Amino acid sequence: MEDHLTKSITHSNNITTISPHVVIFPLPIQGPINCMLKLANLILSLSPATVSVTFVTTDFIHRRLLLHSNTAARLAHDYRPRFRFETVHDGFGPDENPRNVSLLTMSLEAQAQAEGSRLREVLGFGSAEDEMKKPVSCIIAEGLYGCMVDVAKELRVPLVYFDTCSPCCLWTYFCIPNLLKVVDLPFQDDEEGLDASITSVPGMETYLRRRDLPSFCHAYDPNNPVIQLVLKEAQEFPKAQGHILNTFDELEGDYFAHIRALCPNLYNIGPLHLNLKSRIQQETTKSISNSLWQEDRSCLAWLDAQPPKSVLFVSIGSLASMTKDQLMEIWHGLINSKSRFLWVRRPGSIINKDEDTSQDDLEMIPDDLVEGTKKRGCIVSWAPQEEVLAHGAIGGFLTHCGWNSTLESIVEGVPMICWPFYVDQQVNSRVVSEVWKIGLDMNKDNCTRVVVEELIKELMETRRDEFSKRADKMAKLAAQAVAEDGSSYNSLNHLIDDIVSMRFSI
Ligand code: UDP
Repeated sequence: MEDHLTKSITHSNNITTISPHVVIFPLPIQGPINCMLKLANLILSLSPATVSVTFVTTDFIHRRLLLHSNTAARLAHDYRPRFRFETVHDGFGPDENPRNVSLLTMSLEAQAQAEGSRLREVLGFGSAEDEMKKPVSCIIAEGLYGCMVDVAKELRVPLVYFDTCSPCCLWTYFCIPNLLKVVDLPFQDDEEGLDASITSVPGMETYLRRRDLPSFCHAYDPNNPVIQLVLKEAQEFPKAQGHILNTFDELEGDYFAHIRALCPNLYNIGPLHLNLKSRIQQETTKSISNSLWQEDRSCLAWLDAQPPKSVLFVSIGSLASMTKDQLMEIWHGLINSKSRFLWVRRPGSIINKDEDTSQDDLEMIPDDLVEGTKKRGCIVSWAPQEEVLAHGAIGGFLTHCGWNSTLESIVEGVPMICWPFYVDQQVNSRVVSEVWKIGLDMNKDNCTRVVVEELIKELMETRRDEFSKRADKMAKLAAQAVAEDGSSYNSLNHLIDDIVSMRFSI
């Protein structure tokens, strides 16, 4: 009988006895890198020493992780030789060159498919430089890599997809072919039409409007590369042997039964960062950071000096950018609201602005903004966001509603003002405001100083107790999900068991 932790598998006609070796292949951008590194950490620490993990990313991302985070070095140190990075070129040249998500995805997809490419070798059999050439027992890949189904099939390696965007958005991806069929798509992208209901996304009929569909559905163009990637994902995603989602059962609404029907071997292991904290963090006193930018921790000392729940945290994540006009509207709205605020202005996040905007050449800015910021504000270029949201001084979060930010806010019971930019953010903001009722949804095109001021006052003052109560309730549900015997706790154990015993059948 085979040992529990070893198994004979066939790779291109060679029979090899292997122990579990997981290759993790994330999208090379902050949110997915963050999630997948946390997953790698959980797999390594909850499974026996025979299980190893290879984390595949671009050399660009690897350099930034080494420069700005402690996780990369910590994992490599704590779990050597079970954990290692493998890097590939992203094909976009020097670090200063811009990197675009859809082009990045296509470039890596092409490398994964190309016969004899280094990425393909790493995905299938470990690195050429690796003397052990340890065979791969399972690939965990981001859902957007639609080509991975064919690659895994050909390599005879089981595939588990992990889509790091929100399940509510994933469900809209699955429904796009149907939306096209019933002519819910394409639609006229004019202001009046945007409030029309979308009735062909089962489980979301009562609240989804045109304006809440993923951004690329507006001005729908079948040749848009992002649409092509998403349509391919809708087709390929269910074909994997397992599916991981960063959510917890108690969070998800009626539509979730449809996802489960398509992907029955489903592991809801979220909120992943909370699962990690409750399972691992007690073992280490070091705080875990997967940041691709240098965290400015001085904002934590600034928060220490502010009254409880008095500060609005403002951040649009790692990818979105705003125009200078939008920046000024937000800024005026913040100052006019008289709220205290901690604002992340990521370098490069203001379009048409030169270089680092953290100090934002204050002399060019109207006096009332400068004075108001000095009195009640703090601006940093990148923050330790999880720690910021957990700080007692935070009372609200003006967010772009990226899925990680949304979950991090839910976990800390922080109500949100949602200012969505693209991809899943539109759907997330609708669910936050209309279904969970733990925030207010600002239509992105209505980001005027008056709207911003009104929403901040509503969230932080007039309706504060109402939002806080619901947000606290949801935070408790999240905590229960990752506590012993909770839904996400059990789901994670199940995933680890399946990885360890190599139970995925192809
Ligand atoms: N983040 C951070 N510091 C910041 C801003 C963002 O650590 O100052 C992290 C945040 O905690 C989250 C990730 O960056 O985990 C952003 O992911 P999200 O899915 O929210 O948005 P995206 O950047 O993909 O649009």
